[in-house]
Amino acid sequence: MIPYGKQEITQKDIDAVVEVLKSDFLTQGPQVPAFEKLLMDFTSAQYAFAVNSATSALHIACLSLGLGKGDYLWTTPITFVASANCGLYCGANIDFVDIDDKTYNLCPIKLKEKLIIAEKQGKLPKVLVAVHLCGQPCDMKAIHALALEYDFKIIEDASHAIGGKYLNSIIGACKYSDITVFSFHPVKIITTAEGGAALTNDKTLATKMNLFRSHGVTRDPELMIGESDGGWYYQQVELGYNYRMTELQAALGVSQIKRLSEFVAARHILAHRYNELMLDLPIRLPYQLPDTYSGLHLFVIRLDLDKITKTHQQVFNELRENGIGVNLHYIPVHTQPYYRNLGFKFGDFPVAECYYQNAISLPMFHLMSKTQQDEVVSVLTKILQG
Ligand SMILES: *Cc1c(COP(=O)(O)O)cnc(C)c1O
Repeated sequence: MIPYGKQEITQKDIDAVVEVLKSDFLTQGPQVPAFEKLLMDFTSAQYAFAVNSATSALHIACLSLGLGKGDYLWTTPITFVASANCGLYCGANIDFVDIDDKTYNLCPIKLKEKLIIAEKQGKLPKVLVAVHLCGQPCDMKAIHALALEYDFKIIEDASHAIGGKYLNSIIGACKYSDITVFSFHPVKIITTAEGGAALTNDKTLATKMNLFRSHGVTRDPELMIGESDGGWYYQQVELGYNYRMTELQAALGVSQIKRLSEFVAARHILAHRYNELMLDLPIRLPYQLPDTYSGLHLFVIRLDLDKITKTHQQVFNELRENGIGVNLHYIPVHTQPYYRNLGFKFGDFPVAECYYQNAISLPMFHLMSKTQQDEVVSVLTKILQG
């Protein structure tokens, strides 16, 4: 089976992790700060906090922005459930903004329309999670302008987009957002096995995220209430969690991030080749927003079901049966049973639901060979013609 995504672990990666196993610190040592430093250098963000998953990063991001009971978090329905769940963890209400039919990202025009209505109802969002689907950046300038007008905060869920660029700013620089979140799950662009990070340029948010990731506990006298009792002293000043990344994970991250640009460049070569090889197929190829450089986590095609005799499910199953490990990103979050119990229903976000009817993620990972790619295209071509 040609998988839809796959990590690359080199001997150097392995050596870096083994080195940590032989060292004094398996957690809370030098590797996590070293990885954070590399994340800051790469993105030019002023603060970076490595945590045990992007889900945890989204949670501490929401907490640091003060999201709580009665507040609203808005996001796109075409994302992994974690982009919305982080709001529920904080006791907030969730709502969605339908996607743009070209980019498949949250649509800024629909966002504006929804904000106008929400303002009248007194239900404006406190936080918007902008997901860069497939690695393609959202229209951040438009979203940022609306954030200023309607006074909400922006979290970029850049789980797919590390190594990408929006206009002249690197994803993670937080130029048009308050916080950016990355995932280092093995299917993503670089990996720490499990892991994530939250980046910001805001000192107050940074201090809070640092507290929330580790029990709300501090040893910094400046953050304490009153005087220190002595050298052993620490204080809990927030209700935090244990979301720390281990030293083993961070060492893997330090080793992997050195190859990040190379990984993304390889994905671009593959995407370019897919686009050329599949020009004549009855499918819609991915659209690229001008002035952006995608992280290219995913390569999503849309079947033109009017031009073929098979159903979406038939094409999907036949691809899998023929060794092509396709996937579907994503089932619209509002149609998940848990979200339907919260009151969402089919029909709420029609563009997202239409996307779900004919989207397929083709294999895309930087080590994919030309032979493997030719195999994907040839199998798909046969299935669509048959
Ligand atoms: C993978 C992913 C997450 C969750 O990442 P974890 O590191 O597995 O917690 C969140 N949002 C999006 C868009 C993702 O793709």
